[in-house]
Amino acid sequence: MTAGIYMDYAATTFTASEVVEAMRPYFSESFENPSSLYSRSDRNRKALAEGRRQVAGVIGASPEEIFFTASGSEADNWALKGAAFSPRRKGRHIVTTSVEHKAILETAHFLERNGFNVTYLPVDKKGLVRLDEVKAALRDDTILLSVMFANNEVGAVQPVAELGRLCRERGILFHTDAVQAATHVPIDVASMKIDLLSMAAHKFYGPKGVGALYIRKGVVLENLIHGGGQEKGRRAGTENVPLIVGMGKAAELAMAEMESERKRLSTLRDRLIERLRRAVPYVRLNGPEGERRLPNNVNMSFVGVEGETLLLDLDLAGISASTGSACASASLDPSHVLMAMGLSHEEAHGSVRLTLGKTSTEAEVDSVVAALTEIVARRRAMSPLWEDFLKERSKGA
Ligand SMILES: *Cc1c(COP(=O)(O)O)cnc(C)c1O
Repeated sequence: MTAGIYMDYAATTFTASEVVEAMRPYFSESFENPSSLYSRSDRNRKALAEGRRQVAGVIGASPEEIFFTASGSEADNWALKGAAFSPRRKGRHIVTTSVEHKAILETAHFLERNGFNVTYLPVDKKGLVRLDEVKAALRDDTILLSVMFANNEVGAVQPVAELGRLCRERGILFHTDAVQAATHVPIDVASMKIDLLSMAAHKFYGPKGVGALYIRKGVVLENLIHGGGQEKGRRAGTENVPLIVGMGKAAELAMAEMESERKRLSTLRDRLIERLRRAVPYVRLNGPEGERRLPNNVNMSFVGVEGETLLLDLDLAGISASTGSACASASLDPSHVLMAMGLSHEEAHGSVRLTLGKTSTEAEVDSVVAALTEIVARRRAMSPLWEDFLKERSKGA
């Protein structure tokens, strides 16, 4: 890997070398189409079945309930559009939240343009939905509730089991975008009463370009990709055997390490948060603390400075971080997640997301704290926003 400190594991991970090795034979040596009838495809068919079993293991599903896709975004699109256009659909109303990933929000906007009604639930200051507000939003014509398992910007872990129970009682489909959560926190689709769940391999040291949608047995969804009869006739396209093998291998490796990594990363996370709080005046942690936060996520606002400026300075210091979601960073709008949590424009603009992973160490955390302390102080010293902030504070005091 290139030198420097990578703290953007929520954007993507490297592919583990064991995963690359497991994939290798399926590019050329075992290239056959798994749908072909001859015996030389047997190895590929077996590899596909094994991948499905390994991915099912992440969430306690049966292998028959796992359908491979080309990304987490595709799984999200399929869940929403598939439920909306399902032959079993009884209504035209969908409920989701204002802090979802764009793959959900943009799909919801598409459905709105096509005659569906969507309710976007607010979140509290920590980024969590409130059960009473969810309850109040569900109607007789609601077909689907989609709430992400854990937020990609602030790491907030939603009360998924409670949401599942609520939906099951009311006969409403429950989808959760678990792209950030899968293999990082325990997930059990049966006890959490989840009907549909999205995953992506590249968020847990698997390859990019492969994901999965869990569809609970008996749930009827319209297809998103029409064509051949692959994936039991539910998702057309020749199976991407190498990437599916990679996703399966990555799932198995990550699950074997989940408990130890969860402890190690949450300790590093809390060290990063505590040290930044001590070193930098007026910092604010965005999102929940402790168990309700993903073990690898830190998101801080530094008033008086622009997040983008901090990122560029961090980059010069060899540190790769993000202002929030990688997908939104091309636009200069403040994060929709931070705005939904009630932050001011200023606070939302001054935010930085640091996400930890396999290569993260205490030494890296301490280097990042030192670099950020220096950068924030230097940028504040030349910031009119910071001067205004200090003036306002002294007036208030
Ligand atoms: C990364 C991510 C996605 C998109 O997954 P892709 O495989 O990149 O399409 C969707 N939802 C969340 C929460 C994510 O973090």
